[in-house]
Amino acid sequence: MKNIEIKTYDELVKKLKTYLTEEEIKKVTKSYMIAFEKHFGEKRLTGDDYIVHPLNVAYILANINADYQTVSAALLHDVMEENKITALELESEVGLEIAKLVEGVNKINKLSFTGDNEQVIANHRKILVGLSEDVRVIIIKLADRLHNMRTLWAIPEERQKRKAKETLDILTPIAHRLGMSSIKSELEDLSLRYYKPDAYFQIVEKLNQTKMERENLVLEMMNEVSTILNEHNIKHEIKGRAKAIYSIYNKLNKGKKFSDIYDLLALRVYVDTESDCYQVLGLIHSKYKPLPKRFKDYIAMPKANMYQSLHTTVFGPGGNYFEIQIRTYEMDKVAENGIASHWSYKEGGKANLQSAMEQKLQFFKSIMGLNDTNEEEFMSSVKEDLFKDSIYVFTPKGDVIELPSGSTPIDFAYKVHSEVGDKMVGALVNDNIVPLDYELKDNDIVKINTNKNSIGPSKEWINMAYTTQAKSKIKNFFSKIDKKDYQKIGVELLNKELRKKKISINEFLKEENVNKILAELKYSSLDDLYIALGNYKITPNIVINVIYKETESKEEIILKKAQNRKEELPVIKNDIIVEGIDEIKVNIASCCKPIPEDKIIGYITKGNGISVHRLDCPNISNLEERIIEVKWNELVNKKYPTNLLIHARENKNVLLDIIAKTSNTDITVLNINFINNNDNFLYELVVSVQNVTSLNKFMNDIRSIPNILDVERSIK
Ligand code: MN
Repeated sequence: MKNIEIKTYDELVKKLKTYLTEEEIKKVTKSYMIAFEKHFGEKRLTGDDYIVHPLNVAYILANINADYQTVSAALLHDVMEENKITALELESEVGLEIAKLVEGVNKINKLSFTGDNEQVIANHRKILVGLSEDVRVIIIKLADRLHNMRTLWAIPEERQKRKAKETLDILTPIAHRLGMSSIKSELEDLSLRYYKPDAYFQIVEKLNQTKMERENLVLEMMNEVSTILNEHNIKHEIKGRAKAIYSIYNKLNKGKKFSDIYDLLALRVYVDTESDCYQVLGLIHSKYKPLPKRFKDYIAMPKANMYQSLHTTVFGPGGNYFEIQIRTYEMDKVAENGIASHWSYKEGGKANLQSAMEQKLQFFKSIMGLNDTNEEEFMSSVKEDLFKDSIYVFTPKGDVIELPSGSTPIDFAYKVHSEVGDKMVGALVNDNIVPLDYELKDNDIVKINTNKNSIGPSKEWINMAYTTQAKSKIKNFFSKIDKKDYQKIGVELLNKELRKKKISINEFLKEENVNKILAELKYSSLDDLYIALGNYKITPNIVINVIYKETESKEEIILKKAQNRKEELPVIKNDIIVEGIDEIKVNIASCCKPIPEDKIIGYITKGNGISVHRLDCPNISNLEERIIEVKWNELVNKKYPTNLLIHARENKNVLLDIIAKTSNTDITVLNINFINNNDNFLYELVVSVQNVTSLNKFMNDIRSIPNILDVERSIK
């Protein structure tokens, strides 16, 4: 069905007749007549009459059974440009609902979405979604873009690249969130073709080279699986699956080799019922060895965009990996068309469909994080909601729970009982799975799924919860857990050191010894001492030395002390300024560990904010399109870790000399590694330092030590 271009209205009507009534098609025809007249005489760069574009946008939507209002609006989506018709005129011709959809598309088409960094792009996605009061506006926009991408060959190369990038940045993530994977995947492949033509055609060629072989393998596997399922009387269909080029590109980009991409051999099994899905899975696993950790149950745990399927990867014929997806036909509709699959559900009538769509849009807005945006003016209505006092929601049994407006399922769970909160694994609102930061509304029926084996809440919940009560209960949970963890680490550290020194643990922990240690080191209990050990506040040797006199050389002690210290890259908040953006996650790259006064550059990671590298870090060359300018915030006055490599002629006393050079400076040695490298002695130091000036001075000091050959900053 993909890539079929239609040229006439008759072709569209043929499709519409498969699911719309005569009455509805008449209304679509009226819209077509207006569009035809308004675009008459206009040409596209492809050479076609302009009307071919709206016709095809409508056709793309008809293929997902869009309602007549959406198809009509698609035909009219460009008529408001250049004031060919006013909103009022349009409304009197086709009615308020269609006119509103057209206006909506027109409004978002006027926005120009150019941006170079992740935050700006994310904001654009939010604005686009936030501006669309009706989710159908976004769906029309996606179809509009899809047809424009199919005909992108007609525009100049520079604009092709820009459109392709915008599509990847703004529109495909939205299509993904809406679960519209078939449109998303076509948009991605088309975008890649124009944005990175070399990479695209390289993959196409590779796929072609291996096509025959892969098809034969898949066919063989399909036959085998089909035979097993027939033996067990399971009605099914099996199809091979073409692999999206963009997803291969992504995997190659992450450093995978072409031959290592498992799901190149992929098939999909369709069955009638959910229980068939699990039965098929069981039969496949009993015949073929599954690859550990590749099994995913998206039926029990659907993805946020409603996607459901079972995924597994197994060793098939010839020792090849096959990726198998198992789903019902209904799940398939949702998987392909996501939110738009609701158009196919006839039952419940129009009103229900509309409210289902609205609910989904609401849900969508909430996962796009729109509910906590308060700067945009158009969000004022959302703000009003936030300032309302209380909401009343129900338990599945019908009990009323009052919560402040803005509460999430987390607040609900902790309000019911701490235990419910601590063991929560998911939440359903009105029978729909919702994210835990979903904002509850009046009259919502909230069901909390718990699992008694759950290890407890996630730290992120502290930010997702709205009520102080829930926040403090979560914090409480962690302070208990943290203490236990540190205590355990402390016990291990001390025991390890005792074993190393061949001291009996029981002997060491005699009551009189423990009392002496606690008194000398000023801890009130052995547990507290262990927590301090686990926190690295004191070292095991300090404890041991209370009882046993120190027998180690000074150098050994320094080395151990330094090695026991935990090295952590500091939490970066406002330390680094990304021009024009406030709230973005910034990390210091662990390969080159820049410090203030270093020339730095930001690299936009996929989904993990910006990582800051030294300008000369070799790990970021060739990644130009993800690079953005960043600078140190001069107001922040803090120390940062960085790595030094020290070459020494011999290792006698060198370490002591190095450590001595840190006195009277702001430099702390966090970690030392000694590498004995043939005739060369190498020390790898992690130091915490304020800036380059201070580091350079330290490095010069080290160079003045006898037997030191050189010092350099290292990059991993
Ligand atoms: Mn258009």
